[in-house]
Amino acid sequence: MGKVGSSESSSIPEYDVVIVGGGPAGITAAIRCMNHHLSVLLVEGRKLGGQLIQLYPTKFIYDYSSYPEIRAGYLADRMVHHARYKNVPMKEDTPVETIVKEGKMFRISTPSGDFLTKTVILAIGMGLFEPRKLGVPGEKEFENRGVTYAVPNTDIYRGQTVLVVGGGDSAVENAIGLSSVAMVIQIHRRGSLRAIESNLEVLENSLVEVRTNTELKEIQGDDRLRKVTLYNNEEERSYEMEVNLVLINIGFSPDLSLVDKAGVENDGNHIIIDRANMNTNISGIFACGDIVEYPGKARQILPALGEGVTAAEEAYNYIKSPYWVKETGGEVLIDNESCIACGACMSICPKVFQRDGAGKSELKEDADLMLPCVDTAIEACPTQAISLN
Ligand code: NDP
Repeated sequence: MGKVGSSESSSIPEYDVVIVGGGPAGITAAIRCMNHHLSVLLVEGRKLGGQLIQLYPTKFIYDYSSYPEIRAGYLADRMVHHARYKNVPMKEDTPVETIVKEGKMFRISTPSGDFLTKTVILAIGMGLFEPRKLGVPGEKEFENRGVTYAVPNTDIYRGQTVLVVGGGDSAVENAIGLSSVAMVIQIHRRGSLRAIESNLEVLENSLVEVRTNTELKEIQGDDRLRKVTLYNNEEERSYEMEVNLVLINIGFSPDLSLVDKAGVENDGNHIIIDRANMNTNISGIFACGDIVEYPGKARQILPALGEGVTAAEEAYNYIKSPYWVKETGGEVLIDNESCIACGACMSICPKVFQRDGAGKSELKEDADLMLPCVDTAIEACPTQAISLN
């Protein structure tokens, strides 16, 4: 549980770690933090479960360990249930507006109030993501009247003729899933699809009709969607086809406005992190899941869970500086501005700390940072000017 602050930030709840994002990575990070007995708050801008619940709850997730296949919505439900079982404090429909460093804490602002936290784990998926649009005539006009970007449930597709656009795993899995209730034609602009081989094998053996080298050029109808114009870019030929629904699955545009405002380094699409510890460029802010990028990144649930655990471990190390982490490396930092020259650290650990010209604390050259008194000195510092990195 968070505690209520007392000093200048009176009555603002304080936490060790605030996790932003309630998808698989965020929930996993939160549970790991709970196991470390950190005070945790998980905030989700929409519904707990993240993309699993918002985009494709009825779709199967394949090869999630122990489950050859499991419905996304059910998996999300189990994850949320797990978090509740571990008593993770969670708030949904609570979009984080800003993250601002205030002294040693971060202030998290949301429409339902502010929180202070020592660390932040960003597990925001693609932010409050928006599906990528094709920008073809008729797309906007028929949005939610035949044009969709996600499959929250299969009811509207039942018995219909559906055009699925895209050649990635999302498009392929949705096409396969819908083929049990609808007639599905999947188009992709290239000669081959980019989805994983196991998905392509299922697709090949499904009732989905795949048309490669095919682009969607126009969507037409009257009170409802009736037909599309397709273009075969190999044969350079346009033709019309009658369909009732169009599902566009060409990825998502990330919303990085929160990340930008917080000063977290990103490449316009993802947060750049140090893979070893899920550190962002800002000390105390970690990131995990779909929002992060590093060489070799696999955009799947299983690695996202691992990243969530790593981010939680690093938040714990950052807050607690346990001795076993120091053994594997670490650096003693002295914040000169916070040091009040009280001499506590020097009296406890004179082999490591000494006074500088102004009487404030500094590290002795070649000091042995493994000495147990370093931990005691850090704990004794009344202004928390000394920390382990
Ligand atoms: P992807 O980025 O993998 O695929 C997007 C598809 O849309 C591509 O085929 C792309 O074409 C096509 N596309 C993009 N823009 C346009 C356009 N303007 N016109 C026509 N086509 C366009 O997105 P997904 O959402 O499918 O997947 C995102 C990530 O999640 C991927 O890494 C994927 O592997 C992963 N994922 C994994 C799953 C699994 O492992 N089971 C399940 C679902 C997702 P082009 O190929 O020509 O660029």
